[in-house]
Amino acid sequence: MDTQQMLYEGKGKKLFITQNTDEVLVEFKDDLTAFNAEKKGSEQGKGALNCEISTAIFELLAKEGINTHFIKKLDSNHMLCKKVDIIPIEVVVRNVATGSLTKRLGIEDGRVLPFALVEFYYKDDALGDPIINDEHCKILNITQDMSELDFLRAQARRINDVLSAFFIERKLRLIDFKLEFGKDSAGNILLADEISPDSCRFWDKDTNDKLDKDRFRQNLGNVKVAYEEVLKRILQK
Ligand code: UDP
Repeated sequence: MDTQQMLYEGKGKKLFITQNTDEVLVEFKDDLTAFNAEKKGSEQGKGALNCEISTAIFELLAKEGINTHFIKKLDSNHMLCKKVDIIPIEVVVRNVATGSLTKRLGIEDGRVLPFALVEFYYKDDALGDPIINDEHCKILNITQDMSELDFLRAQARRINDVLSAFFIERKLRLIDFKLEFGKDSAGNILLADEISPDSCRFWDKDTNDKLDKDRFRQNLGNVKVAYEEVLKRILQK
């Protein structure tokens, strides 16, 4: 697979062209990065775990009527996806305050928010992914059609409802997560990127143990064990 032409390499994934111009091959890497790639590491088998976790979540969301870029899983760390132009917004949904929200607003870590908070961040590493609002999106030419932003927010809330219910049955609290969306060649907005412990925070329902990339960010150890536990709970039932 490595002989194929690479379209793009990100922090957690590589994208390759395929014979079909409407499809891309996505390779999940073992690399781990945090704090805008200032902290780097690697965990053998992490890519395969995220590929399997993302596959299960995209399949679940498809069943719930959410349009995603996912087509099929090909092998341990590759999936076939529809080619999309990524909308340069990171859509973050938060159920519980932690991470950058607590730092930015001084909200106590672990406080359950009165409603799911949806935030937009501008996907730009050089700028450190700043938080933006609808008017910034218009000025940055991310969209002139403001209803697209309402659509992203509505999709994010639906996804949060589906995933929160799914994970709490598996004794995992979905604390917060990041989504990316893209447009296919027909202009449809699809959920893209990945949904994994790299992009979500999961806390154990009983112990509040962190079972996500915070184990890497905060040097808590057992990163892979945590990702394996998330996969195990997804597959149970
Ligand atoms: N997140 C992500 N990629 C980013 C920034 C955030 O996947 O570039 C996820 C992160 O894993 C968490 C949520 O988005 O689940 C909210 O992250 P936060 O803004 O608290 O940022 P952090 O604490 O990671 O700086």
